[in-house]
Amino acid sequence: MSPSTPIRHGGCTCGAVRFEARGQPMRVGVCHCTTCRKETGSVLMAYAVWDTDDFASSGETRTWEGRDFCPRCGTRLFALRLDEREVEIKLGAFDEAPLGLEPTEELWVKRREPWLAPIAGATQYREDPPA
Ligand SMILES: [Zn+2]
Ligand SMILES: [Zn+2]
Repeated sequence: MSPSTPIRHGGCTCGAVRFEARGQPMRVGVCHCTTCRKETGSVLMAYAVWDTDDFASSGETRTWEGRDFCPRCGTRLFALRLDEREVEIKLGAFDEAPLGLEPTEELWVKRREPWLAPIAGATQYREDPPA
């Protein structure tokens, strides 16, 4: 990593869990699927994906369906996919706001609220992207 490589820091609302991601993410997106809606309690979930080598976290998390959250305050944080060597981090869990990462993909747009416009320049998928 060069000295100019950005390191982005984040964590849960209560501060028990902290994490960092180094360098630029592999992809950035939003998902409108019903699982992401329920899990976040919001109408969409915004995320960015890094290589697990560029990610570190501290503090105890609990996991539901591969999605990590803080057991103390309930903040939804990230999904570690060790098999795929990637971690999907929720953009709202980073300290910096606005974060400045722009989505390049938009998933499950058939579940998008009608008052939300498609994100300009982001590839639109009716459901999950083709494998
Ligand atoms: Zn917490
Ligand atoms: Zn989803």
